[in-house]
Amino acid sequence: MLTDAPPRKANRAGFLESDQTRTLDLPQDGSLLTITKSIESAMRRGRSTNVRRTCAEFLDAASQFYKVPACGFRVLAARPLRVRERWTTELFGDYTPETMLIRVWMRTAVRKEVTSFGTFVSTLCHEFCHHLDFQKFGFRDSWHTRGFYERAAALFHHARGTPLKKLFWIPMTGGRDR
Ligand SMILES: [Zn+2]
Repeated sequence: MLTDAPPRKANRAGFLESDQTRTLDLPQDGSLLTITKSIESAMRRGRSTNVRRTCAEFLDAASQFYKVPACGFRVLAARPLRVRERWTTELFGDYTPETMLIRVWMRTAVRKEVTSFGTFVSTLCHEFCHHLDFQKFGFRDSWHTRGFYERAAALFHHARGTPLKKLFWIPMTGGRDR
């Protein structure tokens, strides 16, 4: 994981707030975990309609919990030519703030392999955290800060029922962290 470089002055305060927001409230019931299990079995059976439906269920439940507007959702067979995610090297999904649309694709860009379940759910949580940045936290942009990755990890481990691992950050040049 590599963070974005801090932006110029105008957006710096929001960037720092995002960076320092290291935790995320999580639902106390197991509803997301239950939905994630249905995503897993839909993927294992290769039922794309069910994958789509269960992912939409996941996002609806999460939006309800965080009291944000529901986001749109598409599953694509392969990565589209134009994507919004400008920063990451491995591309599995994107989020468009203007339309509040999350798109996730089933096949990797390079080897055309089917995205694994873990990567798929991790992408879903990652893109949903971009939605939260705009709709819950009210940031002007959704930067990949240390806080962003930690919030996305908190949601991901909650959704999978796995223990949250502590992330360690190493400062790099240009104000970025790895
Ligand atoms: Zn992202």
